[in-house]
Amino acid sequence: MNRFAFLRSFRLRVFLILLILGVAVAEIMRVSMLADLVDRRVEQRSAELSAQIRILSDHMLAADYLRDNSSEALNAQLSQLSLVYDGRIQLVDRGFRIIADSYGQNLGKYMIREDVIRAFSGVTVKTGEREDGYIELACPVSQRDEESGELVTEAVILARASTETILRNEAELRYRALLIEIVLLIFLAGVCALIAYTSVRPFERVTRAMADVVDFEQDLPVVSDYKETREIVEAFHKLRSRLKLLDESRQEFVSNVSHELKTPIASIKVLADSLNTQTDVPVEMYRDFMQDISAEVDRENEIITDLLDLVRMDQGTASMHVENQDVNELLEQIIKRLGPLARKSEVDLILESRRPVSADMDVIKMSQALTNIIENGIKYNKRPGWVRIILDADHQAVSITISDSGNGIPEAELEHIFERFYRVDKSHSREIGGTGLGLSLSRRTLLLHRGSIDVKSTLGEGTSFTVKFPQVYISEGGEKR
Ligand code: ADP
Repeated sequence: MNRFAFLRSFRLRVFLILLILGVAVAEIMRVSMLADLVDRRVEQRSAELSAQIRILSDHMLAADYLRDNSSEALNAQLSQLSLVYDGRIQLVDRGFRIIADSYGQNLGKYMIREDVIRAFSGVTVKTGEREDGYIELACPVSQRDEESGELVTEAVILARASTETILRNEAELRYRALLIEIVLLIFLAGVCALIAYTSVRPFERVTRAMADVVDFEQDLPVVSDYKETREIVEAFHKLRSRLKLLDESRQEFVSNVSHELKTPIASIKVLADSLNTQTDVPVEMYRDFMQDISAEVDRENEIITDLLDLVRMDQGTASMHVENQDVNELLEQIIKRLGPLARKSEVDLILESRRPVSADMDVIKMSQALTNIIENGIKYNKRPGWVRIILDADHQAVSITISDSGNGIPEAELEHIFERFYRVDKSHSREIGGTGLGLSLSRRTLLLHRGSIDVKSTLGEGTSFTVKFPQVYISEGGEKR
């Protein structure tokens, strides 16, 4: 057994596909949500900070803090803001000197930096990224000049806020999201396993029911969970009826064969017993009875030969030996072989050949099939009578019509004459001879050649068989020879 045979399990595949899909969806959701979340938080923090600074700068201007920074309230506001944002706030005047610092350290020192210089032109400059652990804003403290009415930047507030808490939150969030995802995936695996298990169950029920069937009468329970299982059950029932028919015809065939084989033996037994029980049997009677016994043995032999042919035919095209054969020549040979029987039965054999025809065929089988039909024409004929054989062909198929001047076959019997052992006139069949297998053999041969055999008959006037088969042999796989 293949080591990876378990991978062929439909159930396992359903489970794996669902699980992989589930994991992919959960993972995409987790990653996209977290990436956005941190960016948005940092953005929000800098917006908040900038709003707070604007308020602070308004207060500073109102309290003239730039000239006198001794206001307790503003100093407290300054240090409170730096505390809230876990950062530092410095105030730089137009001379780039630090005039206030929430740390109270660099007072009087110069702060000449690009962002500060740009802020003096009236714009808020943001520096620092979340990866650095902080963001820094340089915000202008501006007021309108009373004379010119223009905005004049009096100072710049340099505010730094830590993003560490956000990052720490992010790490914690990531951890929590991962935990939730793992729990979710365990739950998902359970759901997937349940779906995989239940979705395959109806198919298992069908398989088990099929395995439990012991005879042709047993119906399968209709597993109607799915359209597919219902169809499987229906297909099984159809197959079963075909097998049943086949089995019945096999049984019938066996009983027919036994019957046919027993008849000559029963006759031989009667003949032999009557000779044995009598005393002083004259030699003529012995000879007479022995001739009858010999005829019965011939008949038994004939039946067995036909049966063996039939079995060989049932092997299908595997037993075919196809070659190209002149059909005119073949028919002439058959007529020559049947000449003595025809003469004895006072039947004229007429061959009408419309054109020279050659075709692919298994010569022995085809010759036997045609012989059967022509011989029937002779056997089931009047005295005197005739059998006319017409050979014709179009560009594809050979057509041979065999008509006779016999008594014909009743309409109701026509459809049965190709069945095994079927004989129309059972009372006369013994003296005429034959096994009832000839026409079924002929039809089988023509089917093997992808041809057909048709019969028309008028009671009292005669019967006409038409045999057709393609000139080029097409094998079972559809290939031309
Ligand atoms: P058999 O060995 O009896 O000839 P076949 O299968 O060849 O068996 O024929 C089946 C039956 O069909 C024959 O028993 C006969 O009754 C009938 N039949 C066949 N061919 C003809 C025919 N040309 N004319 C009348 N009856 C025929």
